[in-house]
Amino acid sequence: MTYGEELKNKLFKKKVNGWFKISDELKQEIMEYNDKYMDFLNNSKTEREIVKSAVKMANEHGFKDINEVEHLNVGDKVYYVNKGKSMYLAVIGADKLENGLSIIGAHADSPRLDLKPNPLYEDQELVYFKTHYYGGLKKYQWTTIPLAIHGVIIKEDGEKIEVRIGEDDKDPIFTVTDLLPHLAKEQENLKLKEAIKGEDLNLLIGSMPFDEEIPERVKLNILNILNKKYGIIEEDLSRAELELVPAFKARTQGFDESMVAAYGQDDKVSVYTSLTALMELNNIKRTAVCIISDKEEVGSMGNTGMESHAFDTFVTFLLNKTGENKVNLLEKVFVNSKMLSADVDACIDPIYANVSDRLNAAYLGYGVALNKYTGSGGKYNASDANAEYLAEVRKIFDDSNVKYQISELGKVDVGGGGTIAYILANKGIDVIDCGVPILCMHSPYEVSSKYDVYSAYQAYKAFWNA
Ligand code: MN
Ligand code: MN
Repeated sequence: MTYGEELKNKLFKKKVNGWFKISDELKQEIMEYNDKYMDFLNNSKTEREIVKSAVKMANEHGFKDINEVEHLNVGDKVYYVNKGKSMYLAVIGADKLENGLSIIGAHADSPRLDLKPNPLYEDQELVYFKTHYYGGLKKYQWTTIPLAIHGVIIKEDGEKIEVRIGEDDKDPIFTVTDLLPHLAKEQENLKLKEAIKGEDLNLLIGSMPFDEEIPERVKLNILNILNKKYGIIEEDLSRAELELVPAFKARTQGFDESMVAAYGQDDKVSVYTSLTALMELNNIKRTAVCIISDKEEVGSMGNTGMESHAFDTFVTFLLNKTGENKVNLLEKVFVNSKMLSADVDACIDPIYANVSDRLNAAYLGYGVALNKYTGSGGKYNASDANAEYLAEVRKIFDDSNVKYQISELGKVDVGGGGTIAYILANKGIDVIDCGVPILCMHSPYEVSSKYDVYSAYQAYKAFWNA
């Protein structure tokens, strides 16, 4: 080796693909972990289903509902379910809570189409559900793909009907139609953003008339079927939360089987990797807290979003039930706490590489990505982690051999984004964004690297064990 080569070796940053020269055992472990991840995704496509799956997983690992626990001791594991849509979990550490919590927070909601409150109509003897899209999505991607309906209908007497149709191979599916190319001359000249209108994202749900000469007989036939299946009338659809999600299953992608293609990896990948890491914790120093929040895709507002004070209530429960609470202690807990905001990152796509700064982009297969800051256009609205904290997190990952990369979302002034990070940073918590890089984010079928999924799980485990 020449002196120059030696010097280069010492001074230059090294970037190596995570799969490069890994052992067969590790590769096997990564594949098996991702098989379970894909099963989890197939069973939990909405925030309500995620919370259900998380409660099940927690119960199987000795966690208890905090409402049923009077006193908390070191090693105890508890959870709190907020309105069935968001959730907080904790494992009590040896340290006092006032020295701070180690928090990892993800979100369970993903872009989708929601049914309008008065959704049902018939036109030209076809019956539709009207929708209002949820979150930032490219509307054209949601036409002509199989969609499933998930959610709840509350009947007048309060009975809750759970709906999940389109997932079983024997179930019917539903689609939003699009124009044939033969007649789309005008449409194809429109801007991508305007070619499919929000008001046109209507779900085709029926075409067979009721056997009687009366108006709206196709709609009548559909309502009759719904009445027989769920015991509901049209009015009940206005007491409901019904979400349309892609009916496809999570699948392995590529001849080398290195990737996962699935709906809702933003941010269910962080939910799964943090939850599975949490389940394995024992004898930890600092109390570990896991957040599964809702409404991140629409600004984190409302009583199930991260802006809600329900999280403070949970931490207050922890303080009261460990017998540690005193006046104003909650604020002190927060300023001493540390957090990883577990959310997906954009990944450089060679076909659209012009939107990324190659030096600062995240790469598929290079491990979990740390974003020092988010925001857009001059770091506006950024939650910017302090260098001291970034160094602390990197040391934790380095000491545990976790593979990670440091990145930012896209080129300056090209766009931007945010996560729940700023909401917790505003409480005084040290927060940094840390998540899996994704291709085709917010599309019906997002792509991740199995290596990165596994490295997120390793990263979260290392953070809580530190
Ligand atoms: Mn997200
Ligand atoms: Mn998102």
